Amino acid sequence: MSEAPSPDQPRSVTVLGATGSIGTSTLDLIAADPDRFTVEALTANRRADELAALAKQHRAKLAVVADPAAYGDLKQALSGSGIEAAAGPDGLMRAAAVPSDWVMAAIVGAAGLPATLEAVRRGTMVALATKECLVSAGSLFMAEVERSGATLLPVDSEHNAIFQALAGEENMASVERLVLTASGGPFRKATAEAMKQATPALALDHPNWAMGAKITIDSATMMNKGLELIEAHHLFGLPEERIDILVHPQSIIHSMVAFTDGSFLAQLGSPDMRIPIAYTLGWPERLQAATQRLNLADVATLTFEPPDPERFPPLRLAREALKAGGSAPNVLNAANEVAVAAFLEERIGFTDIAAIVEATLTAMPAVPLDGLATVFAVDDEARRRTADLLQERSTRAH
Ligand code: NAD
Ligand code: MG
Repeated sequence: MSEAPSPDQPRSVTVLGATGSIGTSTLDLIAADPDRFTVEALTANRRADELAALAKQHRAKLAVVADPAAYGDLKQALSGSGIEAAAGPDGLMRAAAVPSDWVMAAIVGAAGLPATLEAVRRGTMVALATKECLVSAGSLFMAEVERSGATLLPVDSEHNAIFQALAGEENMASVERLVLTASGGPFRKATAEAMKQATPALALDHPNWAMGAKITIDSATMMNKGLELIEAHHLFGLPEERIDILVHPQSIIHSMVAFTDGSFLAQLGSPDMRIPIAYTLGWPERLQAATQRLNLADVATLTFEPPDPERFPPLRLAREALKAGGSAPNVLNAANEVAVAAFLEERIGFTDIAAIVEATLTAMPAVPLDGLATVFAVDDEARRRTADLLQERSTRAH
């Protein structure tokens, strides 16, 4: 087979969350194909030196730290390079607004929502890793995509698998169900008692994937699969009851589409996030990418089991939140972000994460999300309420 022709013009790209796990994987693929891509803007939270090094390596035009306190370091690290430095929320919005053909949205959490929306509004190609955008803002986010004509390319391996399985499918009415696969995380076989005692170190030890801390904890509680259920609902338009979750510990089948004639289409690959990222980076073409190849004879066995909602209550909470609609998924996400941070700081136990999220959901019955201002207000309030619940618990404990 001949090589795919290189497009005449290199694709200009911006990476929001460039220093993270998804961001650096994206830049690895870009570095391997330097004639095909040019880099416009890169952002990070506060690691100025790391960001400056990436910006120099990739000859970016703009580098932005979200934390204004890191601006001085960034400016100094970039001095003489000709790369512009910026900081703070306005800086992030500027990075998202710089004209580019393609944007990787890979800031962790709802903190990524404003900049991701800014990129969407340019009507460009947006590769979406930040699933929290779709959980928090759901149909409002999708309405912005619709309005701007942006092309949303799912990066999350499950949604990328479904996106690939649906390529060329004219009619969503022929889709019966979606099957999201889940590794089951480090506690797939743990007892409820062991999970109660689990430390951050144990919970951060994911069997198949190397990822940022927040999503790794979400994988351990299976909140990640709950967030992905909501993400899939918004991306592909199927109701909650037609999206299944299937535990598949080898993480080889990344998800499946079940059609109305009984056919299933699955996408397979090694558990290497560079594969779904490469699909979005080259889209609609495929890149020649030095990602990890799959050898099924070595894997030998693929196994499947139903998830256990008893030990993993976030699966139930996410389904309930999606059914309740309105602000409920937004509250679920914000409460989870606060609870996960508290667990990582060893202020609460592992199983307290789900308990705290549930208590916040109970304290904040769903209201309609009538606009993005409401999304941000509900997110703020849910974070405050969750922090209050954490405070009450620690007061009781002492
Ligand atoms: P990470 O923690 O490794 O990186 C996060 C990036 O966001 C970093 O560049 C960090 O500097 C930046 N950031 C953090 N807080 C910020 C803030 N308040 N404002 C601006 N920037 C901030 O995370 P990750 O694992 O790369 O995940 C990124 C997103 O991709 C998450 O939403 C995650 O759910 C999703 N995702 C990740 C993977 C994976 O394999 N890592 C897979 C699927 C989906
Ligand atoms: Mg995923």
